[in-house]
Amino acid sequence: MSVEPLIIEGGRIVDPSSNRDEVGDLFLRDGVVSTPFARDKARVIDAKGKVVSPGLVDIHVHFREPGQTHKEDVGSGTRAAAAGGFTTVVCMPNTSPPCDNPATIRYINNAIAENAVVKVHTTGCLTKGMEGDSLAPIGSLKKAGVVAVTDDGRCVQNNALMRQVATYSEMFDLPVMDHCQDTSLTEGSVMHEGDWSLRLGLKGWPAAAEDIIVSRNIILSELTRAHIHMQHVSSAGSVSLLRRAKQRGVAVSGEASPHHISLTDKYLGGYDPVFKMNPPLRSEDHRLALIEGLRDGTLDCIATDHAPHRNYEKDVELDSAPFGITGLETSLPVCLETLHRSSGFSLSEVIDLMTRKPAGLLDLQAGTLSEGADADVTIFDSEKEWTPTIDGFQSRSDNSPWLGQTLRGQVETTIVQGRIVYEDGKIL
Ligand SMILES: [Zn+2]
Repeated sequence: MSVEPLIIEGGRIVDPSSNRDEVGDLFLRDGVVSTPFARDKARVIDAKGKVVSPGLVDIHVHFREPGQTHKEDVGSGTRAAAAGGFTTVVCMPNTSPPCDNPATIRYINNAIAENAVVKVHTTGCLTKGMEGDSLAPIGSLKKAGVVAVTDDGRCVQNNALMRQVATYSEMFDLPVMDHCQDTSLTEGSVMHEGDWSLRLGLKGWPAAAEDIIVSRNIILSELTRAHIHMQHVSSAGSVSLLRRAKQRGVAVSGEASPHHISLTDKYLGGYDPVFKMNPPLRSEDHRLALIEGLRDGTLDCIATDHAPHRNYEKDVELDSAPFGITGLETSLPVCLETLHRSSGFSLSEVIDLMTRKPAGLLDLQAGTLSEGADADVTIFDSEKEWTPTIDGFQSRSDNSPWLGQTLRGQVETTIVQGRIVYEDGKIL
């Protein structure tokens, strides 16, 4: 690959994969992290006062292609990723049609080859049509290149079928990712079941709906030895179940989203659908339990669950609004605020949760600045304040609770395989 050699000079290089946190220069040549070379042979990027980290990794995004490209597509979704400092993302299979067959995966891989500005990996469905009735062809999905299987957005309710899914996935060495929701407990629910749902007169969504499925998955992981990863963990119960399971050596893992660690159900006090998510924003004790889970390694990583919806879809009554928010462009500053500045995590610990650890869960070649690794790099100013605006978003959708709010920490440059894809607010 012929790309201009780059020297990123004088930045604070934070690379948890090599225990590195020091001011220095980073050399990128031929698309990989290189040994030092002469300054006159390269473009020099001044990174003094900035943080230089491995490109961020997000194992949970929705790009809506095929089927709902009015909300987002691979092009706009990866531009949003680049603007947020992400160089590797994993997209969910709940497209239309869903990714329950190799042809749809090939279709998405074509869109990726043509339009993606960062690296995108695909996942396949657990069940045909995501109907939860019969197994998807997991072997051929694996052959088509998926890195995991999930019915995200839905949850298989039939435990025998879920056992089968786990058995086959283990045979094909594919992690199972699960959206944990017992739907018999959440019918018609719009927000967390607690004081606020009572006060607002809205149908509550109990934390138990998640805890029950997390327990089921732990038991099935123990039975089949499959790696089962719990997506967007939102409850204190899930965290404590996972903690005990991990202590016994069960092959389970979990992720937390930036919104679940930073916001609570009280934000629904104004009935604003922008705060309507699945699983719902929960109460302060749940939020704090998630942060403790990230601190002690019970929860393995941050994942955004980037879920774009257009204004006219979200701008309806709370009851009928779709679930979810866009997350790629605000994830880093929200995590810096919540984990680093407010909860005592070091900068390196936050970056670890957004690089090495998510990459490791799905065995992705990403999340490191070690020599010879792909030159995927993010340069950010950890203190710079900025305000997200509709016009400033690269995503096609702008359903974000942080619109118009001041955030601290801004991505300045995103580099993928040695090529600058985002710089000073612009996609290149
Ligand atoms: Zn989900």
